[in-house]
Amino acid sequence: MARSSIVVLSGAGICPGGGIMAAHAGDSLWERQLLEEVTVPMAYRQDPLRIQGFYNARRRRLADLEPSAAHVALARLETAWPGDFLLVTTNVDDLHERAGSRAPIHLFGELLKARCTECHHVHPWAEDLDFSSCCPSCATLGQLRPNIVWYGEPPLEMQRVHATLAQCTCFLALGTPGYLHPAAGFREDVPPSARTLVLGAEPAEESDGFREHRVGPADSEVTDLVAELLAEQES
Ligand SMILES: [Zn+2]
Repeated sequence: MARSSIVVLSGAGICPGGGIMAAHAGDSLWERQLLEEVTVPMAYRQDPLRIQGFYNARRRRLADLEPSAAHVALARLETAWPGDFLLVTTNVDDLHERAGSRAPIHLFGELLKARCTECHHVHPWAEDLDFSSCCPSCATLGQLRPNIVWYGEPPLEMQRVHATLAQCTCFLALGTPGYLHPAAGFREDVPPSARTLVLGAEPAEESDGFREHRVGPADSEVTDLVAELLAEQES
């Protein structure tokens, strides 16, 4: 029998408050307006400081967030799973890492990394970004941008994700709609015999081709699912 290989795709639905990129009660008016623009590269070219400011505020807010029970359960699954395991996330926060996940793929980048538009190196970055930010590789000033995938830019590490999906025996889409990309495209990549499951807080609005659907709060649903998967492995 083929070695069990799980691919998990996680989305904003497993994060407290719908994720760091969602609108929050404490957002200023300008932050709310910026939510419409921040994923558009043209907006950054026109007014980099304004866009930097939005991401600086989000980056600072990371410290106030804690990993959810769903994050913790997925880290436990990764540790205890006897086969191959790959965690892919659309989230740009570091909550998976803080829960103990080893090396999640951040499809849409990370708030805690900056990329130099001069030399293209990517650096861990915990501070605010502005015109005085200096690239540690080429020492150019003011050319560091958030390492976030914006509209029209390709998601990161897709080759590795596609290759792993093509070999997997189980694909789980958690807190991200199964009928939308990337989950919809990923499901098409998995072998026909693979188990496919999508989990969300509300029933899907459209049919999505996943074999199993679960509806409920992410924390309890993901915790239960992880317990089931591990129990099935032991039996
Ligand atoms: Zn550089």
